[in-house]
Amino acid sequence: MPLATPSAVHLPLRPPAGQFYDLPHSLRPRTNPGVMAIYIHIPFCTVKCHYCDFFSVAGHLDQAPALLAALAMELRLQIQHFGSISPETIFIGGGTPTLLPPPLLQNLMTTLHQHIDFSALDEFTIEANPNTFDADCAAILHAAGVNRISFGAQSFVPTELLVLQRDHNPDNVAQAVRLARAAGIDNINLDLIFAIPGQTQNTWDYSLNQALALEPQHLSCYALMYEPNTPLTARLKSGHIQAAPESLEITLAQHTQAKLAAAGFPRYEISNYARPGRECRHNLHYWHSSNHLAIGPSAWAHYQGIRWKNVPAINRYTTALLADTPRPPIIEMEHLSARQRAGELAVLLLRLRTGLHWMEFQHRTGINAAQILSQVLQKYDGLGYLDVGPQHLALTDQAMMVSDTILADVLAAFG
Ligand code: SF4
Repeated sequence: MPLATPSAVHLPLRPPAGQFYDLPHSLRPRTNPGVMAIYIHIPFCTVKCHYCDFFSVAGHLDQAPALLAALAMELRLQIQHFGSISPETIFIGGGTPTLLPPPLLQNLMTTLHQHIDFSALDEFTIEANPNTFDADCAAILHAAGVNRISFGAQSFVPTELLVLQRDHNPDNVAQAVRLARAAGIDNINLDLIFAIPGQTQNTWDYSLNQALALEPQHLSCYALMYEPNTPLTARLKSGHIQAAPESLEITLAQHTQAKLAAAGFPRYEISNYARPGRECRHNLHYWHSSNHLAIGPSAWAHYQGIRWKNVPAINRYTTALLADTPRPPIIEMEHLSARQRAGELAVLLLRLRTGLHWMEFQHRTGINAAQILSQVLQKYDGLGYLDVGPQHLALTDQAMMVSDTILADVLAAFG
């Protein structure tokens, strides 16, 4: 799953109706070693899952050739502006990038190789829906240097997949993992969702066992969210489904952490577990607030404290980029103050098991976090939620279920 934009302190600015922002000022306009990661958004899916609020559309693959031409143009514009880039990580998400027919998938890979310097790349991930993955797709990806695949498994229980309105079945996941490995791609993530209506501790445990049996390197386990304006939320409001009780959600979260730790997958972020050394490097760049560029409709980027987001509409995106005078399709731009940047960095670092290192934080931001957070430390003193040491601050396992509240307090302290 693509990561959400970090919680903003102030609402982003919007340009006048129908207009777009320019790319922000670049520090290094010829070559830019400061860009650590790049994200590419492919917004097509077979169907729209009922819980999903990412920007994606069901079908409309007839728009894919224009979208790929626009992506290539956006990449060219960014490289002209920021300088040539040699990122450590590339992440192609969506949507379902593997829904692209093989010639178009090949076209996308060729575009990336034409424009990006791959010499520093050590992780190249693509997201895949298990039923959109075949041997041709795997071969194209492996030949292009993709070395990590994130499959949306979500559950291994058919009735739970039905509640989510996923259009794959559990057998598709095992088959997709086999095909990826056969092609030589052996770094596999499985996305799973817990607290699905009707789920029990037994069925969740069954899904975890099925996932572990496939020997992935990484597992992302998210509690089901009822996002505004999704069919799932409408079904909840109309009484057609019932949300899992909070007590069950807490039990499932605790069970996940204990079971996966025992299986050799320590938690390294609130929702993410990995074999040691197999943590997602791309997402670690987000959580360390590194500079990252992003292309595609709805994609958001961050560079030196400026965050911006592309228009979440395929037509407007392609029209802007394929015009006689192409321009970046940016509809939101946010300039963070030094204090806001520091607050967001603190929140992102505290999502990680490693937490916030006091001295490194001060070195990077010029801000004494211990001083700023003194009241927060006092508020949670003795509750077992904070691991406070002379070197660092981290959330404990016990804090994970109330992490939203604690992180909101941390952000507010940087006000
Ligand atoms: S496959 Fe992923 S991006 Fe597409 S609708 Fe489902 S959850 Fe959303």
